[in-house]
Amino acid sequence: MHHFDETADRAARACLDYALERLRYDPAPLDQPTTYDDLARRVGATITSAGRDPEDVLRVFTEVLAPACISSDSPRFFAFIPAAPTKSALVFDTVVAASSMNASSWLEASGAIYAENEALRFLADLAGLPPGAGGCFVSGGSAGNLSALVVARETATARRGARPPKWRVAVGEQAHSSVASTLRILDCDALVVPSDDRDRLTGAALRRVLDADPDPGSVCAIAATAGTTNAGIVDDLDGLADVAAERDLWLHVDGAYGAAALCAPSVRARFAGIERVDSMVVDPHKWLFAPFDSCALLYREPQLARAVHAQHASYLDAIRTGDEWNPADYAYHLSRRARGLPFWFSLAVHGTDAYRAAIEHVLAVARAAADRIRAAPHVELVRDVELSVVLWRRPGWTPDDYVTWSRRLLADQVAFCLPTRWHGEVVARAVFLHPNTTVEMFDEVLDSMR
Ligand SMILES: *Cc1c(COP(=O)(O)O)cnc(C)c1O
Repeated sequence: MHHFDETADRAARACLDYALERLRYDPAPLDQPTTYDDLARRVGATITSAGRDPEDVLRVFTEVLAPACISSDSPRFFAFIPAAPTKSALVFDTVVAASSMNASSWLEASGAIYAENEALRFLADLAGLPPGAGGCFVSGGSAGNLSALVVARETATARRGARPPKWRVAVGEQAHSSVASTLRILDCDALVVPSDDRDRLTGAALRRVLDADPDPGSVCAIAATAGTTNAGIVDDLDGLADVAAERDLWLHVDGAYGAAALCAPSVRARFAGIERVDSMVVDPHKWLFAPFDSCALLYREPQLARAVHAQHASYLDAIRTGDEWNPADYAYHLSRRARGLPFWFSLAVHGTDAYRAAIEHVLAVARAAADRIRAAPHVELVRDVELSVVLWRRPGWTPDDYVTWSRRLLADQVAFCLPTRWHGEVVARAVFLHPNTTVEMFDEVLDSMR
């Protein structure tokens, strides 16, 4: 059934035709979820013993299932972290799918890994990491944070020759939820360091906390954030790197959203110190215009990661004959899709200048949006915009008012905008990421709060 018979040929044509049509949507429709009962009524059971015509099954997808999924690449998507993959990256994902490469080992996928590593090198250079730095692409920032912090913990155990009853990792108050989840998986405790008056995790605060701690030797790593998801704040990376050097701590930087702005000269100085990290992540599927799911995971000394993550089995020995680069060695995975290739293809086609320009443009739109809030009488900016996350309040509104407003915006297809919490207060949040999002689209969001 997997041969390219008449059914498969029709499926290919129908799907590729639709893919091309979907790529041409400009802008992508926002769409919205529906209920299980609605889908069950309109779709019913799709899988039968005899199978169905590919055109029919595809029609179910295009007419019912796809419109019940929000398009993260709508320029009116302001919630969570949006997506804005380039068309060339998206279409190359289809090429990757058709190529059936298992990009876990050099033996199986040397060509794909060569290209992925070019893209990783571009990111390592942006951060200022040394020539020996490297890693692999994993599914997302969560998988990257977990893979890196396993290496941090195991490296500390190896270097110190002993493990405490429980390792601890120093984190900021604004660290991403995936870091808490990682620490749970690793059976490590969080040493939560209070933020400074700009809501950053700083080296000075960390030093104070460690000096006052009865058991500082059980801390093995610092997990800092370069661009918090909730507010776009970049921690004091240089100060944290000083403490890491003084106390032999692993410094990991979660730049899943924000590290893309390393491309942007107007904000590059905020990331000073990132060249000193032991490991970092940045998600091309966020602000580097690649499709889901793609996270670049980089290590200063990849051999430390290899010592922890390389899998050994008699049937696998063949993948290690020399110093080949095996992406499977750098995270807790084995089989993997060459998920760095869509990003690589788009970078190669458009050139890195286009990335810098697109990110600077988005930063400028976010600043303009903040100016609109400052100028409007009915709303207030909650804090200055650091990268491209904007927080604001509508004085007089209750938390329920924000929820009602958010639902109405989506139902009316004006925008997908969700409230968040800032220092305990429910406020509105918009993330700018799509280069085609305009200030006028954001004006509609502000107008809807009058
Ligand atoms: C989005 C995000 C993550 C999680 O990344 P996924 O790709 O969704 O797994 C982690 N950290 C930060 C700062 C993020 O913005």
